[in-house]
Amino acid sequence: MRAFLQVEDFFLPPPFRKIKMTSQTLFPTLQIPETLAAGPGPGNTDPRVLAAFANAGLADHMQADVLRGMIECKHMLRDVWGTVNVHTYGVAGTGWSGLDVMLNAVLPGDSVVAFANGTFSGIDALTIRMKSANREELRVNPMDPKPQSVTVILVPHGQSVGADVIEPALAEKKPKWAFMAHWETGSGRVNDIRAFSDACERHGVLGLVDAVSSLGIADFAIDDYPGVVGWASCPQKGVLCLPLTYAPVSFSDRYIAEIKASGCHSYVHHPILEARHWGVIDGAEVPAGSYHRTHSGYAIAAFHEALRITLQHGRAQKARDYAYHEQALRQAVTAMGCQVTSNMTSLVVLNLPGALAGREKELVQACRAAGFGIWPTLSEPVQVRIGILNQLSAAAITDIVSRFAKAMIAMGADLDLNAVTHGLRNYYQSAKAAN
Ligand SMILES: *Cc1c(COP(=O)(O)O)cnc(C)c1O
Repeated sequence: MRAFLQVEDFFLPPPFRKIKMTSQTLFPTLQIPETLAAGPGPGNTDPRVLAAFANAGLADHMQADVLRGMIECKHMLRDVWGTVNVHTYGVAGTGWSGLDVMLNAVLPGDSVVAFANGTFSGIDALTIRMKSANREELRVNPMDPKPQSVTVILVPHGQSVGADVIEPALAEKKPKWAFMAHWETGSGRVNDIRAFSDACERHGVLGLVDAVSSLGIADFAIDDYPGVVGWASCPQKGVLCLPLTYAPVSFSDRYIAEIKASGCHSYVHHPILEARHWGVIDGAEVPAGSYHRTHSGYAIAAFHEALRITLQHGRAQKARDYAYHEQALRQAVTAMGCQVTSNMTSLVVLNLPGALAGREKELVQACRAAGFGIWPTLSEPVQVRIGILNQLSAAAITDIVSRFAKAMIAMGADLDLNAVTHGLRNYYQSAKAAN
């Protein structure tokens, strides 16, 4: 006997409906509420992207318009990344999926210097240690290998990775690969990719960068950083395409030559093979892609629209808008007695005022329970993270600030909500007057 009601049973006339809905495993339709996603990511997806996702017809992964859409996405991505790299495309999945493709160039025994200044670059460094470890090193500590070939340079939480750390490490180790996060979202710090790229060039090192948090927010063009040969980003932060779509990656010819020469231990996450479906075959551009795996027409339509939105906004203008609104949020929380320790423009990482210190997680929980999705830091020290992805308006920032102020007041903070919103109004009015 079947344990639960099957869909077909709904189409039977009542007397034939033998099985009652008493099952433990057939759940009601999942309802997910609309929240204000004001954390490090994901950002609220633009309605245009959701419409593109929902309005795409059912078409298989080799249908002509799906393939054309992939080629168009590839060209738009080159614009968004600021590159002529032929191997620029999207990896199905999340940010880690794109990073996995990029880091697959690291083979067992490869020497690597990885800089880590927060949660995400820490996980990247773990990925690198797993890939560089030999069999014996992996066996000794399978979940957290410490291969001899990898040097992880830990930079304290709240600090950026700069030339003072990068230059001596690469000069001393002269590794094959070096790794850094561009924007470390765990601590909200911008790292110096100019110094990183220059040091890589100077010492003949191949640079790899996690640009998950910066692509689509910072105004940079990867072709200005020739020391960096591999870049990986994500769908849900600056590109704003959460309906699980594509993690943008870009690889220089130098990187691809390395893969060609040495190979990689993956079929699906192979930097050269993955490019085939996007119309890049053996380094040549072809008019339409060929099968690599089953891509989704819905995802392609959404990704395409997200890239169109980013290009319409313009890389430089988008970066200015983030800086402008982050400044508003920063001033408001500072006026509320918080201390901001980040310098990213999509995210504010802060310490609560002394009276509330130690209650960060409690505050974040209370906000999240009320549909205001802010975050604590995921590694020590515990701080509060408030993000503004796709919240680029005075009204949206004012909403975020008021919700945060009310939550602090509810926990006993001594602050004047009127004064805070007044200060915010002044910021926006004087900025308008200056233009
Ligand atoms: C968010 C983030 C990741 C992980 O991205 P997912 O989409 O969660 O896989 C990796 N690195 C950095 C710097 C990030 O900000």
